[in-house]
Amino acid sequence: MGVAIVTGASSGIGLGVSKKLVEMGHRVYGIARDFSKTVFKDVNFIPIVCDLTDTAGLVKTVEDILEREDLYILVNNAGVGYFGPHETIKPKYIEEMVRTNLIAPLVLTHLALRSLRKNQGYVINIASITALQPGRFGCAYAATKAGLHQFSSSLFEEVRKSGVKVVTVYPDITQTPFYDKLNFEPEDNPYCYLTPECVAGAVEFILSQREGTVVTQVVLRPQRLQLRKK
Ligand code: NAP
Repeated sequence: MGVAIVTGASSGIGLGVSKKLVEMGHRVYGIARDFSKTVFKDVNFIPIVCDLTDTAGLVKTVEDILEREDLYILVNNAGVGYFGPHETIKPKYIEEMVRTNLIAPLVLTHLALRSLRKNQGYVINIASITALQPGRFGCAYAATKAGLHQFSSSLFEEVRKSGVKVVTVYPDITQTPFYDKLNFEPEDNPYCYLTPECVAGAVEFILSQREGTVVTQVVLRPQRLQLRKK
């Protein structure tokens, strides 16, 4: 199988996707700032410590990987969210969201495309349902995800002839450490959230199509929508 880079591989969806890719036989370079919380260990899971908001450091890290590896799958998954009325979201948090959720995927994809073209590979962008519908109290977060959505669909049109597949996944509320620092979380009822394994299953589906068919968008939603204040 092939080599994958997964950002945000230390927890939640990125960790779930990394486990699935390893199970499918891929070798995964997982990028995050801190793997001390990550219990997953496997010879085909290579943790790489890198802060995605540091563009120069990101470029160096990824160029090092691409010098020795041919890339087949890039999963732009890492993301942060700060929520509340927009006038309460501090500029440093707005900047962190734009850097992590939008600039890093654009830069990483730029670096990866040559290798992906050679291997007829995949760019899989983990956006969010907030990219597709307006909602209150997450305007800046939604803007970064809508930007990723637009980038992803435009890139597919640009590179489809070259054999690269570009896919966007739009998860709704997913039970992960994403909510650890927030003042709300999914209701404790399995009908009210997705799991990282659900999103990883979607990635497996994306990668299991016949050559020539591309699943360009996957929207995943829990049966019910219920959040609770902490
Ligand atoms: P999570 O468990 O908090 O995972 C976020 C990942 O991103 C972690 O591995 C984190 O690693 C990494 N990360 C954050 N900032 C980083 C930085 N500056 N440099 C490197 N890595 C960084 O949350 P999650 O729910 O799995 O989120 C994954 C993606 O799904 C995000 O893009 C999120 O927006 C999206 N999403 C989540 C939900 C949801 O309800 N949970 C819904 C829709 C979309 P370190 O902290 O170790 O660096």
